[in-house]
Amino acid sequence: MQQCFFLFYPSQAPRLPKAGETIRGHKFFIGFGGKGANQCIQAARLGVKTAMICKVWKRLEVFNQNFVWQTSDAATGAASITVNDAGENAIVIVAGANMRLGEEELQQALTAIRKAKVLVCQLEISSQTSLRALQMAHDNKVRTIFNPAPAVPDLDFGFYRVSDVFCCNESEAELLTGYSVNNVEDAHHAAQELLRRGCTAVIITLGPQGCVVLKAQDKTSTHVPSTAVKAVDTTGAGDSFIGALAFYLAHHPDMPLEEMARRANQVAAVSVQAVGTQTSFPFKRDLPADLF
Ligand code: ADP
Repeated sequence: MQQCFFLFYPSQAPRLPKAGETIRGHKFFIGFGGKGANQCIQAARLGVKTAMICKVWKRLEVFNQNFVWQTSDAATGAASITVNDAGENAIVIVAGANMRLGEEELQQALTAIRKAKVLVCQLEISSQTSLRALQMAHDNKVRTIFNPAPAVPDLDFGFYRVSDVFCCNESEAELLTGYSVNNVEDAHHAAQELLRRGCTAVIITLGPQGCVVLKAQDKTSTHVPSTAVKAVDTTGAGDSFIGALAFYLAHHPDMPLEEMARRANQVAAVSVQAVGTQTSFPFKRDLPADLF
């Protein structure tokens, strides 16, 4: 179960426009996203039943699901993105209806949260709602993955205490701990700091270097390397990794976390070899049988 939904409006143009300027672009398309939606899609493609708990504008007819609320007070979350020929971008994100998801909706979803095997939360909805959902899951012994993204420097310590797996990337680890995180050694160090704050396990993803895993019952963290591949577009790699991790937690709850991370690395490594975010996420049929 996951929680945020965005529409993406990317335009490709020779360069980024200056303030007040209108320029012609080459290409425009509309895509679906939000970290929650991406992670949900990846988990579902591997073969588990998933549900989104989210809120969108009332006329958006994308969903027909039980836990998608609609509001007339705010637009569906949207990200307008301009990418220039050098691959640089300028992005404006408006969270919109995502911020209207609150306690009332969570109470209505409580029975489903209790029945879930795993709850995954991010920070693209209000942080109080994310924390509350994680608390509900934790109180009901549902395993939780918390992805503190986009990261905030003053994250409420309550998030650590309700995270079975606290999973972030290098820049998020850096912002949260204040340590610089540029390599595997740094990640070991940052993971210890995050674990001290109260989570059961920490994973820091390291792009092509895979990830570092640290569990509360172990003193030292483990580097889980990724497969070397020719990456063409790494956008959404972290979401592919977390979606896969959620799949393994739900499907193989007793598997060691390091093995889940090794397999999630392999799923995410496939995603970086194709263009796009959700469009690059592999299905079960695209992956070797020994990953299941
Ligand atoms: P984010 O997308 O949040 O920045 P990362 O860049 O750390 O996250 O990537 C998440 C995971 O995706 C990594 O742990 C790794 O498994 C995989 N990955 C990312 N980039 C590559 C790459 N160039 N080659 C192989 N795997 C990659």
